[in-house]
Amino acid sequence: MINNTNPDTIVALATPSGIGAIAVIRLSGPHAIGITNRVFKSRDLEKQASHTIHFGTIREGETILDEVLVSLFIAPHSYTRENVVEISTHGSPYIIESIIKLMIKEGARAAKPGEFTLRAFLNGGLDLSQAEAVADLIASNSSASHQVAMQQMRGGFSSELKALREQLINFASLIELELDFSEEDVEFANRDQLKQLILQITRVLTRLIRSFEQGNVMKNGVPVVIAGKPNVGKSTLLNALLNEERAIVSDIAGTTRDTIEDEMTIGGILFRFIDTAGLRKTEDIIEAKGVERTHEKMRQAKLIIYLVDPLQSTDTIKQQTEEVGQLHIPHVTVVNKSDLLSPQQQQELATLNPSFISAKNKEGIDELKDEILRKVNLHKISTDDVLVSNVRHVEALQKTRDALERVLYGIDNPVTSDFLSMDIKQALHYLGEITGTVTTDDLLENIFSKFCIGK
Ligand code: GDP
Repeated sequence: MINNTNPDTIVALATPSGIGAIAVIRLSGPHAIGITNRVFKSRDLEKQASHTIHFGTIREGETILDEVLVSLFIAPHSYTRENVVEISTHGSPYIIESIIKLMIKEGARAAKPGEFTLRAFLNGGLDLSQAEAVADLIASNSSASHQVAMQQMRGGFSSELKALREQLINFASLIELELDFSEEDVEFANRDQLKQLILQITRVLTRLIRSFEQGNVMKNGVPVVIAGKPNVGKSTLLNALLNEERAIVSDIAGTTRDTIEDEMTIGGILFRFIDTAGLRKTEDIIEAKGVERTHEKMRQAKLIIYLVDPLQSTDTIKQQTEEVGQLHIPHVTVVNKSDLLSPQQQQELATLNPSFISAKNKEGIDELKDEILRKVNLHKISTDDVLVSNVRHVEALQKTRDALERVLYGIDNPVTSDFLSMDIKQALHYLGEITGTVTTDDLLENIFSKFCIGK
């Protein structure tokens, strides 16, 4: 069982490994201050107040390993709620390794991945969804994913669930009471009130489940497929968007054999651009696979940028765009090679309401980016918006909603209290899994092993 009843003191590098101006080594546990004090030459750390910083040297015997700054956080006023010491050293891998070895010699143990955050969770400093948000925050790479993680870390999401869970617990206990009096056919839990509460919770759950679509793309990026016949300029467009030579550009139709993905942020939102093998019937086996994958990718996309070539007839272009329209995925029709476009053709194509660009000359790219943002229609999230971005959470929310729907059914088609009680307990269980009120070792292991060491 993962618990923290008799914790040892752990140590790890908290900053990235490698050479840097400074590095921070972190210790947490009952002996964090005592261990540091034995090798730190300056003031007696055991006599200092929490949240103070002390300059001195770390020594191994008579050898000075480094001049450092030691920050003290005395339990429970720390990230882990234990005694925490953070040692800022010069960022030399040799110094870092020597100090960590010294700390281990003095009685600390090397921390496992995520162990500091695990302790923060076990000691009640964070709930589970907040702890997970810490990992998301560290991994965030766009203003949108940062916002979602920050919002979750600050607890907006879990406080809402906790309040609902508590109300449901009240009903669960009333129904439990009915079980004790089962002979007497009494109803302590008012069924109408219970139904109202469940409807209210279901509404919140539905909102949170729906928010996942947005939360997920904000965290992981909006998948955008760039599609079109060979040689329309898909790779050139991807390069223009990314502003670098990422995809291979060539005159030979079918050069882009496989899909290529690259990421960029537009308007603070992360987009994953997927360049695809040309959409054409082909005899080439490798390329045929690529085309197959293109269709698969197109179905997964949140947006298709459909590129057409003005060297084709207007009728062919219209027919192609109709085919894309049938996929029922938001798409932008883009006429590339506008440098080759005759004014007459421009007029004919205007009915398609396309974006005109020249990928090669990087013309119309900014306007296309604006159009992409408009089409994906992700409203700007504010700091108060509660978005679910974690697959584990959305699954638990769905299971909760399923269980509550069974309760509703049970109220409307009267079943005995023990059936109601069972489904309510299930709902409570799944809700509790999100915030960590209900956990298993496997679940914790699974979540925290994905953290980096030192976090
Ligand atoms: P893909 O097969 O759709 O990926 O097409 P590529 O990006 O490889 O481009 C095919 C050819 O079209 C290359 O020779 C490009 O230089 C050319 N091309 C791409 N964009 C433009 C453009 O805006 N104007 C002109 N004139 N040629 C372009």
